[in-house]
Amino acid sequence: MISVEPTAAQSSTLDLQLREESERIGAEAHALVARLFPYCRSLTGDGVRETLQALRTVIPLEVHEVPTGTRAYDWVVPNEWNVRDAYVLDSCGQRVIDFRAHTLHVVGNSAQIDRRTSREELLAHVFTDPAHPDWIPYRHLYYRDGWGFCMRHRDLGQLDEPDYRVVIDSTLQKGSLTYGELVVRGTQSGMFLVSTHTCHPSLCNDNLSGIATTALIAREWIRHPRRHGARFVFAPATLGPLVWLSRNEPILPQIRAGIVVANVGDQGGPTYYRSRQDTAPVDRTIAHVFRHAASGNASIRPFAPVGYDQRQYCSPGFNLPIGCLQRTPNGEYPQYHSSGDNLDFVTAAALGDSWRLLSLALHVLDADATFINLFPKGEPRLGPHGLHAIAESLGLFWILNLSDGNHSLLDIAERSGLPFWRLLEGARRLEEAGLLQRQSGAGVPQKDRF
Ligand code: ZN
Repeated sequence: MISVEPTAAQSSTLDLQLREESERIGAEAHALVARLFPYCRSLTGDGVRETLQALRTVIPLEVHEVPTGTRAYDWVVPNEWNVRDAYVLDSCGQRVIDFRAHTLHVVGNSAQIDRRTSREELLAHVFTDPAHPDWIPYRHLYYRDGWGFCMRHRDLGQLDEPDYRVVIDSTLQKGSLTYGELVVRGTQSGMFLVSTHTCHPSLCNDNLSGIATTALIAREWIRHPRRHGARFVFAPATLGPLVWLSRNEPILPQIRAGIVVANVGDQGGPTYYRSRQDTAPVDRTIAHVFRHAASGNASIRPFAPVGYDQRQYCSPGFNLPIGCLQRTPNGEYPQYHSSGDNLDFVTAAALGDSWRLLSLALHVLDADATFINLFPKGEPRLGPHGLHAIAESLGLFWILNLSDGNHSLLDIAERSGLPFWRLLEGARRLEEAGLLQRQSGAGVPQKDRF
């Protein structure tokens, strides 16, 4: 039997490096979520601009403004909404509902109003969630006219006066839709897309967790340039990706893989929704990463045109190989779309873990390659190359056997049951020994990162 004692090669694998880094990155992601929390984001408006501006302290994001009226397939960029203040005053002049206390108190996209209303009229415009009386629900009026407030159900009884003054100091007028994009060039053709939505106000898991995690992944991509390029898109849900797609059709064939990131800060296990292609490299890679590197209960779900922006990227006219990474999916945790989705609900550990899994998946996608065994007649003798002791742990016999030009390292990883990153180290050692030659793909990455 060959020894399977851990070796220096094993302990230097990428998986372990990322585990070590994830604690620090998780704390940084949580701090970033806290910093972005107060901004009143929406489909359009200054809250999104302020968010993207704050992200520019982390990554050199390019901010794009797309004017009201611009068409994107069947959609049109609407008027821009901005809100400065919103409140309901009782007869003593006290704010009984106050936007300054929480951005969720005003219904998103509410029209400007300043007048007295009867209690009955006010209540017809107030939303609460009786099932969770301590949380303010999140509501918006996109593509509709109207106004409204949200409040804790337990506070509803305090609205016992016959009439109130209602003020929403907002504007809904020609402006633009704002999205951010970071383009990082690679050294070879092909690129990855990481996309996250930016349109929710003070809500942490949905969507600040995705924004923070994507930004910190992008920063790593800049610090450690890869073979493939990458585009990181921060855009309001649905309309943002449609605008981005409509402006980027010529480059879409270059997209090798993509991931939509959302709800990645709660303590549930990681969940992945497959792309519409079902078995694209990104789908196989995430399944592989979950199998070998996820802590806790990880789950893979089939593609469905629900949830986030993979709906647009995977619409039949594009059918891009793009899946969606979450922890607990949208709508499956009670705090979803309420003030319960706050800074306590998302944890540094979960954010760091999501960053690690996403980072590992992108590394696998970037590094996958096909090799040729230069000594295919029988197994070459590994002892003279000093490889005998590490042959089993790094899957050298698997690599040599299946490197016939028809199997990539990911294929070999799936078939052998060994983690990709160990085979990658094995391929590097075999290539150094002159037993293996790269045929196609990214090749063996630089040793300093692995
Ligand atoms: Zn949402």
